[in-house]
Amino acid sequence: MELLDKLTILADAAKYDAACTSSGVRRGSRPGMIGNTSSSLAGCCHSFSADGRCITLLKVLMTNYCVYDCKYCVNRCTNDVPRAAFTPRELAELTIGFYRRNYIEGLFLSSGVVGSPDNTMELMIRALRILRQEYRFNGYIHAKAIPGASPELVTQLGLLADRLSVNIEMPSEASLQTLCPNKTKSAILRPMGQIRQECMENKEALAKYRHAPTFAPAGQSTQMIVGASGESDRHILRLSQSLYDRYRLKRVFFSAYVPVVEHALLPSRDTKPPLLREHRLYQADWLLRFYGFRAEELLDEDEPNFNPLLDPKCCWALNHLEQFPVEVNTADYEMLLRVPGIGVVSAKRILVNRRVASLGFDELKRLGVVLKRARYFITCRGKRDTRLPLVPEKLLPSLTAADRNPLQQSGYEQTSLFAV
Ligand code: SF4
Repeated sequence: MELLDKLTILADAAKYDAACTSSGVRRGSRPGMIGNTSSSLAGCCHSFSADGRCITLLKVLMTNYCVYDCKYCVNRCTNDVPRAAFTPRELAELTIGFYRRNYIEGLFLSSGVVGSPDNTMELMIRALRILRQEYRFNGYIHAKAIPGASPELVTQLGLLADRLSVNIEMPSEASLQTLCPNKTKSAILRPMGQIRQECMENKEALAKYRHAPTFAPAGQSTQMIVGASGESDRHILRLSQSLYDRYRLKRVFFSAYVPVVEHALLPSRDTKPPLLREHRLYQADWLLRFYGFRAEELLDEDEPNFNPLLDPKCCWALNHLEQFPVEVNTADYEMLLRVPGIGVVSAKRILVNRRVASLGFDELKRLGVVLKRARYFITCRGKRDTRLPLVPEKLLPSLTAADRNPLQQSGYEQTSLFAV
């Protein structure tokens, strides 16, 4: 099979993998090495740096042959699809060729399980070794560790990649058993624990020895499929929180289930991917990571799912009106962060600017506060916008109108990293 045909198959087979980001790592240029990464390149697979550049990773599978039978996956062994596999050298040459031609700035590598997890990881490691050691490639690499692979191979992969991830796949052990019969919770969590431990030890080693080899300097992430099984948003968010707490993950990626196969255990193929739900989970995830919220504050047993019409922070504010209005000239940073329309950057700007002069609505607008949301929940110099009383029934329509996001306006449409 021609290399281009393999690329077409293996890039297409990788498109359901959401866990890629080049953020959080700085790999400066080194003598004799090609490429570098920058920690300013925040975002995901296609993201924009501060100077407007689009950051692109080559996202492929080593192979889409797979001995496992995950019910939702196009690559499962029982599905009749065209199959292909790169040799390690083919993949390394393809990556460095694309890099030299400026098509990509890094590699995102995953794989179906060919033979066994160890065999698959060995192929991936061989490809990355050729890339790093023979072609002196110093750009960003995100590699997926295969659940069930030996710890020594996870270590070797971490020494070659910037970021590792192990997909948790399903939000509960019961769903995992039903939909991924070849995977177990312990086979997924064990490498996560190992990566966490090795990242910590590597940090200590680097503090002592500047030239110590780095182990996954951009940390680890995971991916969870949303909508293929029946778990609530509350369940998913609590699980994400415990993964952040226990394994120090950089990101939990949510992937709205795209029905590509007909199966009695799965939503029918006519079901639209729950993209709005995925969007709300990402918003809530942001609140956990940067705004000091805990999962149990955002959802409870009586209301276990997010309101599709309103972002999670506005929902929380509406349910806690006794904590508002907040005086922006005196409130502490933590409380400012809880005001809808005030983000991390604008909260910090408020703290700096109010030292010089007390702030009014005009100043807040200049500082980047989204007043169409914030104005209902704040006072400036003791005054509140009195057009709307602080009662949920009055606030809800205004907040809902302010929250109209592109997903709601244009219907569902999944972006493809491979669409031109
Ligand atoms: S292990 Fe499961 S999810 Fe991964 S490629 Fe194989 S069938 Fe698909």
